[in-house]
Amino acid sequence: MAPRKTDSLIPLQELDLQIHLLRVQASEKPRQLADVEGKLAHARKNLEAVQAEIKALKLEGAKRELTVKEFDDKVAKITTQSMTARKNDEYQAFQKEISGLMADKTRVEDGLLDIMMQVEEKMKLEKLRQEEQKQAEAGHAAEKKRIEAEVATVNREIEGVLSTRAALQAGIEKEILRVYERVLVAKDDGLALSPVAKYEMIEDVGKVIYWQCGGCGVGLNMQDVNLLMMGKEIQFCRTCSRIMYLKQEPLVPKDVPKPL
Ligand SMILES: [Zn+2]
Repeated sequence: MAPRKTDSLIPLQELDLQIHLLRVQASEKPRQLADVEGKLAHARKNLEAVQAEIKALKLEGAKRELTVKEFDDKVAKITTQSMTARKNDEYQAFQKEISGLMADKTRVEDGLLDIMMQVEEKMKLEKLRQEEQKQAEAGHAAEKKRIEAEVATVNREIEGVLSTRAALQAGIEKEILRVYERVLVAKDDGLALSPVAKYEMIEDVGKVIYWQCGGCGVGLNMQDVNLLMMGKEIQFCRTCSRIMYLKQEPLVPKDVPKPL
């Protein structure tokens, strides 16, 4: 039997499917980084949060230190004024004012001490968060390296298949190749060829044979099948536009039905 038009495309399609699957693999691998990227972002956020808290506490501490200094200045000023007091009750009034200011100052100083203790605690936490971030960075870098190495391996595989493909392509009729490649680029699953296979159903009338496009599952009529069997021209599936070919069934050749 003369070779069918599509025969030369079958081994090419096998390689193109391999290439397609390898490219999908290579493009999906970076997604595996999402997990470690998430952990790293989380660690960074935690560190930034504690650093912001420290900054706010230090700012509040500085404000209170200023307030303490203001109290000291006021006390010094009133102490000087009290020296000029001529009467005892006048002097006592100054003293009362001073002790009031001192009491307020003590309250501010207590608060300041509390803030300084909080800063100390937060700085311990900051160290911990820095360590966590360092670990997350190391984990991310290791994972990135691993994935990049895997992608490089897949890319080398693709190169290998591509060179095999180039050799194979040289032996295919130009026009057939052009048609095939036009279909291939239009499909996102790497399949330009569609195997047409038969399946049997037991119905009222007995055993009935149906033919189906393997690319999209649409049923074929006998006229399509006859044309495929002759194989003189390229046949496209009316539904998925793939190039159809008859699936070889070398194990049970007697089962291949004769065209009606
Ligand atoms: Zn189809």
